[in-house]
Parts: sequence; C-alpha cells; structure tokens
Amino acid sequence: MSKNSKINMEKLVNHCKNMGIIFPGSEIYGGLANSWDYGPIGCELKLNVKNAWWKKFVWESENSQGIDSAILMNPKVWEASGHLASFTDPLMDCKECKTRHRADKLIEEFTKNQVNADKMSNKEMETFILTNNIPCPKCGKCNFTPIRQFNLMFETNRGVTKESANTIYLRPETAQGEFVNFINVQRSLRLKVPFGIGQIGKAFRNEITPGNFTFRTIEFEQMEHQWFCKKGTDEKYYDFYKQYSMEFLTSLGLPKEKLRFKDHDKLAHYAKNACDVQYEFMMGWDEINGIHNRTDFDLSRHQQFSGKNLEYLDQVTGEKYIPYIIEASYGLDRIILALLDNAFEIEILEDGSEREVLHFKPSIAPIKVAVLPLIKKLHGDVAKKIYNELKSKFRAIYDDTGSIGKRYRREDAIGTPFCITIDDETINQNTVTIRDRDSMKQEKVKVDDIFNYLNNKFQG
Ligand code: ATP
Repeated sequence: MSKNSKINMEKLVNHCKNMGIIFPGSEIYGGLANSWDYGPIGCELKLNVKNAWWKKFVWESENSQGIDSAILMNPKVWEASGHLASFTDPLMDCKECKTRHRADKLIEEFTKNQVNADKMSNKEMETFILTNNIPCPKCGKCNFTPIRQFNLMFETNRGVTKESANTIYLRPETAQGEFVNFINVQRSLRLKVPFGIGQIGKAFRNEITPGNFTFRTIEFEQMEHQWFCKKGTDEKYYDFYKQYSMEFLTSLGLPKEKLRFKDHDKLAHYAKNACDVQYEFMMGWDEINGIHNRTDFDLSRHQQFSGKNLEYLDQVTGEKYIPYIIEASYGLDRIILALLDNAFEIEILEDGSEREVLHFKPSIAPIKVAVLPLIKKLHGDVAKKIYNELKSKFRAIYDDTGSIGKRYRREDAIGTPFCITIDDETINQNTVTIRDRDSMKQEKVKVDDIFNYLNNKFQG
C-alpha cells in the first residue's frame, strides 16, 4: 500500500461534497462567494471538535465558565472595542477588470510569504506593488486604484426604517460578548480572579479575498476563551495558554510537526504580546489560532463607554483593579480544514486500486461505527438489533446497500474508524467481525463485548 501524492485542494473540496461533509453555500442558486454549508458528516465532525474544545477550555481549564451571548449587540460595543474605527482591510480595485483585492494579500502571495505586508503602511504597500509590477490575479495587469480602508463588519438595520440610528452589526468576533459579561459572570458565580470565560459561536466578516475552501469565509464559528487575571501575572498566563493551545490542537490528532508558533510582527494597539498557531496546510503555513495578551484595554474601554464600573474587588486585600485578559481564539472552520487536510489520503492498494480515506483520530471521527449485515436477507435483523443497542452510545450508522467491499470504502472515505460485519457466525456463534479503518485488519469479537471493545479504542 502506498500514498498518492496527487492530493490538492480541488480534490479535497470534491471529496467533501461527494461524501456529505461540506457543500458550496446556496449551490442551486450558483453559490455565494466564501460561504459553505456543512453536511451530515461535516456537522458531526464540527460537533466533536466543539465538544473537545468545551471540555478542555470550560470544564478542565481551572476556574472557567461558559456563556452563549447574543450575536447582535448594542452598537456602542463596537465603538468601545475599536471595531467601528479600525477593523478594516486595505483594499485596491483593479482598474482593468474591476475586481477588488487586499493589498497585503497581493504582496504576500506574490512573494510567497517572503515579505510580511503586516509591517507596511498603505503608501509602502502601494509602492511595493507598483515597483514589483504585481499583477491582478484575475486579469494579469498591474493597474490598481490607491488603497482604501474597508470595514469588515456587516451592517443591518433594527426596526422598520433604514436610518443610521437603527444600524446594528453582526459581530465580527465572539470575544466582546465575554468582555461585556465579565461582571455578570463574576458576580453571579462569585468567582475570584483569575478566572476564565469561554464561548463558541458564529462570527461574520465581509471578507472579499477568495478563501482557500473554508479557510476564509464570510460567516464562521469561533471558540474563544478569555482569561481574566491580575496585571503582573499576565505574561505567565500568556505562556501557559500558548502551551495549552498546542496541547489542545495535538489532542485532536494534528501532528506536532505541522504546527508552529508565529509571533506577531506588528502588535495591535491594545496588545502587549501576541502570536498565532499556524498549521502547515497543503497551500502553506497559515493561522488557525491566535493567543493575545490584551492587557486591561477591553475592560477599561467598556468601563469608559458604558459608564459602568468594571473593576474587580479583591475581597481579601480590598484592592480594586481592572483585570488583564489573555485570549485564546480559535477558528473552528480552520481547525476542521486542518483536520481534513491532515486526514485525507488516496492510497494505492496492492491490487492497484485506489482507496480514499480520512484518517481521523477515532475520538473526533464523525461516525464512530458502521453496522453492516453481510447479506441483508439473512443478517439484517440481527444487525439492526446490534445497531439499535449501539446508537445511543456512539454515533453509529446501519448500511445494508451494495457489496460489503463498497460499503467499507464508503466508511473509509468519511473516516469511520470501525465497521462491524454481521454474518452467519454472528447467528451461530454470537461473534462479529470488527474491521479497523487504517490497517483494514479484521478481528472477531463476541457480541456482548462490542461496547467495551469500542469504548477502549475511543478512550485510547
Ligand atoms: P486573518 O489574519 O487570517 O484574517 P485574524 O488574525 O483576523 O485572521 P482573528 O481576528 O485573530 O483572526 O480571529 C481568531 C480566529 O478566527 C483566527 O485564528 C481564525 O482561525 C478565525 N478566523 C478569522 N477570520 C476568519 C474567516 N474569515 N474565516 C474563517 N475563520 C476565520
């Protein structure tokens, strides 16, 4: 058996569509740029990653709690956070073909990431593009308008009239919901600093750069954890959450050698320290997670703009202060893309045939076990009974259509780690055959031992 090296993004996109993992958004209407829908298999995968994150960051992270705040917030939140004034991308229009591009991305793609445009001013980016004759990716000409800053927030209107007083925004990050609830969470649960707040939810950004599949989309899910701590302890916790992030990502099955830290060259005005965790995608290294020391900027600004006191009172020392925040921010869709990128293989088997397989770690695999009667007429009833017993314990499916070989292949292609085959021996000797996705080896297991057998594999 050997690996096929011909895997590329197009193959992965097609595979995801054919296997019910991810579909192009609004496809029957010609799609909507940078939007994707998760199918039956993809949404199970997402759920498993969300559950693993929640467990790690809310249940297991010391003194942490979860919330679920509203997507639509009082517009003053975005004034205080700085998003209204400065959550912008540097955009240029191609005067020839009228397409719009991000200046920083044009430079980074042209130089294959050898030049970091993050550090450049708009004037420097314009000059760099002109002197290097960087072409428009669509028409190949180098004839752009000057850079304009374009706000990434989606606007909508509350109420019936479209007056600017009614303008509200779809949140571009989930973090602000955690900041504005700092006092509510602290007081209602009588928490002592340091403590954490985590949440998972949708965020929206008016991204115009074409994404690499789900890497950059206009609607995506974030999993964000904010750690509220006292100034002076912040750098210790910043280092802690860097390591904790790495632990989390490798626990999902992403290999350590395909992950790395990348310090930010240009810090945001509020940040004392910031880095990304990058994954080596098939299109190159890029960010899947950011860790930021946000200082006391967020709570100070919300205190200033809301007029509400957001200081924490230390009951023991009597000291009052605004806590510092260490943020660990994850893009769920980018993690899913990294998991698919890492797991997808087209193997050439000894007989020359191809096997498409997703080698997910069993604990995050969308479907844990498939129950397959060898011959429906003879083994279907027993198989259904076994499936009915398993389905409340693991995400299981029952499939009796097509040859057993084709059914195995279908399960391999969606990453199901175990297939249970029901045959005459099940009826006569009360045993089943359990096939392992990766080795394709089969083992005989007693019907009464199936649960323990699988449970051990998932714990491992
Ligand atoms: P980028 O530089 O790639 O635009 P960012 O630095 O703006 O990302 P953050 O604001 O730090 O990203 O958001 C935290 C996480 O949210 C990112 O690490 C990423 O995983 C995810 N994310 C951000 N923007 C998008 C998007 N448009 N589509 C999918 N995921 C995103």
